[in-house]
Amino acid sequence: MLTSASLAPTAAPIFMPQGPLPWHLQEAHELLSLHGVDPARGLNDQQVQALAVRYGLNQLPAGRKRGVGALVWEQLSNFMILVLVAAAVLAGMMGDVTDTLVILAIVIMNAGIGVVQSWRADRALDALRKMSAIQAKVLRGGEARLINAKDLVPGDIVILEAGNQVPADLRLMEIAQLRVDESALTGESAAIEKITGALPAASSTVLADRLNMAFKGTTVAHGRGRGLVMATGLNTELGKVAGMIQQDVEVITPLQQRLSVFGKRVALVVMALCGVIFTVGVLRGEAPVTMLLLAVGLAVAAIPEALPAVVTVLLALGARRLVGFKALVRRLTAVETLGSVTYICSDKTGTLTQNRMQAEQWVVMEDGTFASWTSCSTDLSVTHKELLRAATLCNDATQSAQGDWQGDPTETALTACAAQAGHEKADLEAEYPRVSEQPFDSDRKRMTTFHRSPQGYVAYTKGAPEAVVPRCKAVWQATDGAALVSIDGEAWLGKANAMAAEGLRVLAVARRSYEHLPEAGGEIEAVESGLCLIGLIGLMDPPRTEAVSAVQECMDAGITPVMITGDHPATARAVAMRIGIVRQAQASVLTGSDLAQMSDDELKNLVRQVRIYARVDPAQKIRIVQALQDLGEFVAMTGDGINDAPALRRANIGVAMGLGGTDVAREASSLVLLDDNFATIVRAVREGRHLYDNIRKFVRYAMTGNSGEIWTILLAPMLLMPTPLLPIHILWVNLVTDGLPGLALAAEPAEPGIMSRPPRPPSENLFAHGMWQHILGVGLLIGALCLGVQAWALTNGNAHGQTMVFTVLTLSQLAHLLAIRSETSSLWQLGLWTNKPLLGAVALSFGLQMATVYVQPLNSLFKTQPLTRAELGICMASACVVWVAVEIEKLWRRRRR
Ligand code: ATP
Repeated sequence: MLTSASLAPTAAPIFMPQGPLPWHLQEAHELLSLHGVDPARGLNDQQVQALAVRYGLNQLPAGRKRGVGALVWEQLSNFMILVLVAAAVLAGMMGDVTDTLVILAIVIMNAGIGVVQSWRADRALDALRKMSAIQAKVLRGGEARLINAKDLVPGDIVILEAGNQVPADLRLMEIAQLRVDESALTGESAAIEKITGALPAASSTVLADRLNMAFKGTTVAHGRGRGLVMATGLNTELGKVAGMIQQDVEVITPLQQRLSVFGKRVALVVMALCGVIFTVGVLRGEAPVTMLLLAVGLAVAAIPEALPAVVTVLLALGARRLVGFKALVRRLTAVETLGSVTYICSDKTGTLTQNRMQAEQWVVMEDGTFASWTSCSTDLSVTHKELLRAATLCNDATQSAQGDWQGDPTETALTACAAQAGHEKADLEAEYPRVSEQPFDSDRKRMTTFHRSPQGYVAYTKGAPEAVVPRCKAVWQATDGAALVSIDGEAWLGKANAMAAEGLRVLAVARRSYEHLPEAGGEIEAVESGLCLIGLIGLMDPPRTEAVSAVQECMDAGITPVMITGDHPATARAVAMRIGIVRQAQASVLTGSDLAQMSDDELKNLVRQVRIYARVDPAQKIRIVQALQDLGEFVAMTGDGINDAPALRRANIGVAMGLGGTDVAREASSLVLLDDNFATIVRAVREGRHLYDNIRKFVRYAMTGNSGEIWTILLAPMLLMPTPLLPIHILWVNLVTDGLPGLALAAEPAEPGIMSRPPRPPSENLFAHGMWQHILGVGLLIGALCLGVQAWALTNGNAHGQTMVFTVLTLSQLAHLLAIRSETSSLWQLGLWTNKPLLGAVALSFGLQMATVYVQPLNSLFKTQPLTRAELGICMASACVVWVAVEIEKLWRRRRR
């Protein structure tokens, strides 16, 4: 546990003078007046500006950024590159300085490409990190504003709600049941109940004991509060413990790790082969230095050490594209594994529905029968007015200066309707000021607020009917003044059920009068009992139109969509029917209480048949994820509340809500939906599949090219031919074929039918589906073509043989690139023009190759000769053979499917 004692010696004076005593020993109002902050309005813009200049940004230093120098060194410090440079210098000293210079130039150009790639990846990751930044609600200039937490200054008044991450060190001024999880800072796992009063001077200075402070990096587990920012950035307690700072977006994904291990294995094989090439060459009487250069050059070209880095670029670019689709990636692993999702377990409210609630039915009991209003008219009975008043007072919605309602859509729908009926929240609150409260949470499914009333005190409770009706002892009626009649709970719950079956979200509203306010800290169960039911409210939340097609797309893609909601089973079923998650009205719904009675094995037997879970506590979501995972499913699960965090962490892909979610849920997730929309998850899955395909294409392309180079050099001596290529040729081919064209594969559009094939098993090898065979086979074909051309030149006494082999090697790789744009569709089916960057890269590489053949100064550098038309024709025809062969392979694959 960290104590202030251990931190104190380094603590600098922070937010202006803290007065004679540390903050926790002073009253909040003293600190407010000491620093000239108006508690009702917060800082004004001028104050903020001045304080921002003085204290800087409220942020902790991110991990050290790699500068360009470091990136260049990273590229050049590779062992094989160093050996190559040493060999080139040696060769230069022994004779051919031009060769040395060309090799060095190629090495530098290659490193340049590497640096640009790493820099792009770093930038994309950096941008993601910035977007994942925490926001804070702050009172400034008299209104609540949502700002980037890094812009907070000492003196700001921060508004805290359950699920928020505390954005700076705060001296708490106001609290309502505020409990803060400080485990990130103190290691204490239980949430700490906070207070506002000053602590006695003799109290301990341990952080965990400063109950009237909330520290940056901790999270609000329950309740609400306001606090005065006392320290920001490095001056916070968290800032002083720099080692605890975590990077949000991890950089190494399992695929990158696997590729790096794979790269090392291939490196060993390639080095062994290069050893063989060197030895055989020297034994056959070739110059040792040339053979050394050739062997090392081949090793540099063929060792796929850059694969993990290129995959980072592709993943980072994919993540950037996902942001365009409103899906923010917090962990790169998510991009890589999205394509494997087999189950999407989604919340209902706001994700499958629009979260644009409208209060459609207001039901009370009058003269022993249910009376309902469907509009927010002003012509209301007394009981109806009381229902409106209760719904408006037991409500946390706030109105902006422009008159818009802000807050939970369930609540804003109620205040908006009440306002239409002439019940303004501000007027009601002036008449019935709130004195205390028990906030809403999805476990209790209800909330209670206490108000001073003209007759004493009144408590209003609203929540799910099953969470409120059984706590009522009577029904509140007011035909002739207020009167109480006994309650028929069954009838009320039946009515609520009927409303829910129409797809309405139903709230029950009740009240209880008190002469004196119940004792603070009294048992909430006792306070929320013996209530008088006022009525029911039915809210309509229309399904999102795009959810219907997204659900269908999921099903076509072999992904099962599942709804997990805290709402009523009948509401859940009605909405699920409308969206297409289930087809029959009798579709089974598993409720939270069913789940509670089921063993894990029973759940496992049932879990694949259930598409709707209702009245589920967030804590139960984890059991659903676990049961599905035990059956081998790969689960994406959405969540927004604090209690969703464990399930989000447990899911293979935790998906948090960007608009309505809490910081805690976001921290626990690997993907954040910026629009809270189910369709966005499906789009992200599509993009994940697309990206994985492109990674496979890149690996297929790069490795086949390398294999072709190795086969060519390795087989020549075995076929008793001279070494067909010079070291610079190999290095050049590697430069023009691997750099731009390979990366242009990132722009390859998704293959047709990408969402009508089943998900990829997460454990599936990257080289599955015949990739290995392709790499070896097509590589061998390239080698055979090169050596075939050489044999032809040798037998015909053609002096351009080496230039031709050099050209065949480059062109056949470019032809291969065009052919592997799809694993199954032919180039014609795809359309030649559908990846213009790739076409441009191929054209550029072709042009560069032609330059080495036809531009005279380059002839002497590359030891090439201009080819005749017929010779060039033979080279191009050889490249076409590769293209045709791969097209035949794809045709065979299409037929097999
Ligand atoms: P989902 O999990 O799909 O988002 P949900 O939003 O309906 O579903 P919760 O927010 O846990 O789930 O709400 C559960 C129930 O609590 C609702 O069905 C409703 O009856 C009640 N409820 C929701 N919001 C409030 C609120 N602000 N005040 C009182 N009761 C509420």
